[in-house]
Amino acid sequence: MTVYSGPVFEMAASQFQVIADYLSIPHDERDRLLMPKRAVTVSCPIHRDDGTTAVFEGYRVQHHLTLGPTKGGTRFAASVDIGEVAALAIWMSWKCALVGLPYGGAKGGIGVDPASLSKRELEALSRRYMQEMIPFVGPHTDVMAPDMGTNEQVMAWFMDTYSMYQGQTVTEIVTGKPVSAGGTLGRREATGRGVAHLVRRVMRDLDIEIAGATAVVQGFGNVGSIAALELYNSGVKVVAVSDHTGARYHAGGLDIPALIAHCARHGNLREAAVELALDPDELLTLPCDVVVPAAMERVIDARTAAALRCRIVAEGANGPTTPEADLILHQRGDEIFLIPDILCNSGGVVVSYFEWVQDLQQLFWEEEEVIRREYQILDRAYDRMMERARRDKVFNRTAAMAMGVERVRGAKNMRGLFP
Ligand code: GLU
Repeated sequence: MTVYSGPVFEMAASQFQVIADYLSIPHDERDRLLMPKRAVTVSCPIHRDDGTTAVFEGYRVQHHLTLGPTKGGTRFAASVDIGEVAALAIWMSWKCALVGLPYGGAKGGIGVDPASLSKRELEALSRRYMQEMIPFVGPHTDVMAPDMGTNEQVMAWFMDTYSMYQGQTVTEIVTGKPVSAGGTLGRREATGRGVAHLVRRVMRDLDIEIAGATAVVQGFGNVGSIAALELYNSGVKVVAVSDHTGARYHAGGLDIPALIAHCARHGNLREAAVELALDPDELLTLPCDVVVPAAMERVIDARTAAALRCRIVAEGANGPTTPEADLILHQRGDEIFLIPDILCNSGGVVVSYFEWVQDLQQLFWEEEEVIRREYQILDRAYDRMMERARRDKVFNRTAAMAMGVERVRGAKNMRGLFP
C-alpha cells in the first residue's frame, strides 16, 4: 500500500513491472524509477456565487527531476484523486523520455466537475490552485499544461496568478496558453493532429487506403475532436464519435465540422444530430479501420479488447487500455496494430515543449514550423519504436515504454544517487 494505491496507480505500476522484467532491471532499482519524487495536496477554498464557501482538494505529483523540470497537465474532474494523478505523472515521464524532451513527468488536478461552476467560480478556483502551488512550481521546476476539464483560459489564469506574485510576466510557467498570452501557434491542435498523423503513417504501413477508411472516436474534447477533424480532412469517414453526453453514428461518415461547430455553441454533443444516436457502449467495438479512444483511462478492458473489430487502436487518451487488455491485444498479433498512448498523444507535450522554448527565448515560430517539427519528432519516435518492437519481437507498448524507462534510468545511473 502507498498513498497512491488505487486502480489507476496499480495499472501504471503493473505496466512498469512488465517493462522492468523485460529490461532485467534489478529489483532494488525499481522503486527509484517508479515512485514519484514529490506529491502535494492542497485545499482550495473559494466563495461560491451564492455567498457560501466551498473547499476543493487539489493535487500535483512530480514524478522525477532527473532530466530537467517536470511537465504535465492539470485535470479538473470530479473523479480525480492522488493515485490517478500519480499514474498520469508516471506516464508523462515515459512519454517525455520516449520523444526526447528534457523533462520529467508531472500531473495535477482538482476533484471538481468544472461544469458545476460558474465562470467566476472557475476563475477563482484556478487562481487559488495556482497560488497554493507557487512554492512547488516554476519555469525550471515544474511546468503545467491543460488536460481533461481545463483549457487555454484556465492556463491564462494560472500564468497571470503566478506572474502577479512574481511581479513580472512569466509566460513560461505554463504551456497551452492562448496565443494572445504567450502561447504558441499549433498547441491547441497539437495532440489531435499528432494522433491523426500517426494514424495516417500506420495506415500507409499497413496498406490501408486512407481515403474512404473508417474511424471511430471516443471523446470529443480537444484531443478527440481535432483528431476526428484531421482524419475527416484526410478523407477518412469518421463513422462514430461520442462524449460524456452520448454517441452519434452514421455509416456514410459524420459531418465532423458541423459537430464541432455544435459543440462550440452548446458545449457538448447532447443535442447534436439526435437522429444519429448510438448506444455509447457499442462505440469501441464497431467494425472500422481505426478506433481512437480519446477520453478516459481503462475504457478498453479484456472483454472489449477481445471484441474489437478494428485494424488500428490509436490511444489519444492516457492509459485507455488495461494490462489485461494488452495481453489480449498482444495475443491477437497482427490483427490489431496498437499506437500506444505515450507515443500517440505525445504531440501535445511536444508542442508544449516548443511553447516553453519560445517563451524562454521570446522568439516565436510560424505555425508551419511548429507542425513540421512536431511531425519530425513523432516520426522519429515511431520509427525507433517499430525497430525495437521488431528486433525484440515485443508488443508496441513494451517497446515504447522500454525506450522511455531506459532513458530515465540511464540518466539516473549516470548522475548517481545523492548524497
Ligand atoms: N495533458 C497533456 C498530456 O497528457 C499535455 C501535457 C503537456 O502539454 O505538458 O500529455
